[in-house]
Amino acid sequence: MALVTMGPMLKRAQAARYGIAAFNMIDYNSARSIIEGANDLKAPIIVQVSVKTIKHWGYKAIATWVRMLADDVDVPVALHLDHCSDADVIRRCIDAGWTSVMFDGSALPFADNKAQSEAIYAITEAAGVGLEAEIGAIGGVEDDKFVAEDAAILANYDECVAFVSAMPNLAVFAPAIGTAHGFYKGTPKIAYDLLERITATIPIPIALHGGTGLSQEQFDRCIAGGCAKVNISTMHKHRFIEGFVNLHAEKPKLAEPLPFIVAQYDAMKRDVHDMIRAFGSEGKAVHAAGEGA
Ligand SMILES: [Zn+2]
Repeated sequence: MALVTMGPMLKRAQAARYGIAAFNMIDYNSARSIIEGANDLKAPIIVQVSVKTIKHWGYKAIATWVRMLADDVDVPVALHLDHCSDADVIRRCIDAGWTSVMFDGSALPFADNKAQSEAIYAITEAAGVGLEAEIGAIGGVEDDKFVAEDAAILANYDECVAFVSAMPNLAVFAPAIGTAHGFYKGTPKIAYDLLERITATIPIPIALHGGTGLSQEQFDRCIAGGCAKVNISTMHKHRFIEGFVNLHAEKPKLAEPLPFIVAQYDAMKRDVHDMIRAFGSEGKAVHAAGEGA
């Protein structure tokens, strides 16, 4: 089916308290494992792309791959731009066919982040594209940005309320609640009380960044607390590499490329299945009229 915007699918997920997996695609094979993995389980899915991955492959190649793969399956697929602070990249993604984008102004002072997020919101609303916006600082590495885990700053509740007040149709809101990108060194301290306080008053689905390495119990509590979009990047990258190197270790003389591509695909898709099941979105694909992009 055609690509969809992620706002309606996330609202449904939040209302029914399940999470929709958002995997960071790497290449065509990875996008295929994500979309076909979701189709196997009849789950809605978000394919998201980092700025550096877009800069490597190009806007047109990525949009074409994802649209083509989505056309061949029967589940809703959204194409999303992950963490981006560059309005020009956001515009180019919208022009190329992305159905949602993230503006990440979390490194800016609050007032500047709010003003710039609202300016991008005007663009995405006019284009019929979903927007994700962030406040606070999520720890770890995202592209070339590094935030030490102990320097990660939880979102401030009053600022959350003020931040979203002029963006009622925000597709998903990403307040920092103590999770981090990359692998966790210790047990992350998730601010469930803050999450619950936010979702009690702000009727916007919440994005859980830094999903790799959280336990089932942590996923369950975050999803029960209103997280509807669960980002998985680090684990997917590791499966991509392991699929390749494990086969090479097993069959060092094998010089045919296709078995390596298949091994990568299988390793990534197994993880896509596992995460969809962990987030409770198996069987939740809904075909709603008027949500196409
Ligand atoms: Zn993130």
